[in-house]
Amino acid sequence: MRDIPAGEELTGDYGTLNIREPLRCLCGAPDCRGWVLPDDLLHHGAQWEASVKGVFPLIPTVPQPLWPLLKDGERTDVEAALRDPGQIRAIFTHYSPPPVDDPTAPAPRARPVPGFESASARGVMR
Ligand SMILES: [Zn+2]
Repeated sequence: MRDIPAGEELTGDYGTLNIREPLRCLCGAPDCRGWVLPDDLLHHGAQWEASVKGVFPLIPTVPQPLWPLLKDGERTDVEAALRDPGQIRAIFTHYSPPPVDDPTAPAPRARPVPGFESASARGVMR
């Protein structure tokens, strides 16, 4: 955990968003995975959750200027989880598998293999 300087761009990992199609990541971070995949949450969720749980107890120790942006009930949930860490909602509750009965849903894809990116992705590799 660290302070966020005024004006710093905040970023998030699209792997937490239940995307349905793999997409090439162009974030430029030294530890970038290169791809954001529909099952990233299943593969990396435990690590992400451990990171959050490690710093979660520090929330009341620093000013929280973003509290007003939370939706109704979210602050109450966070405060309850601060009192009882067992109430921290697992990141896996945000994962939903692709619908199996949706004929428009894309077919499951294998994890892209480095060096075998599609032609449309070749122009954006770093
Ligand atoms: Zn990236």
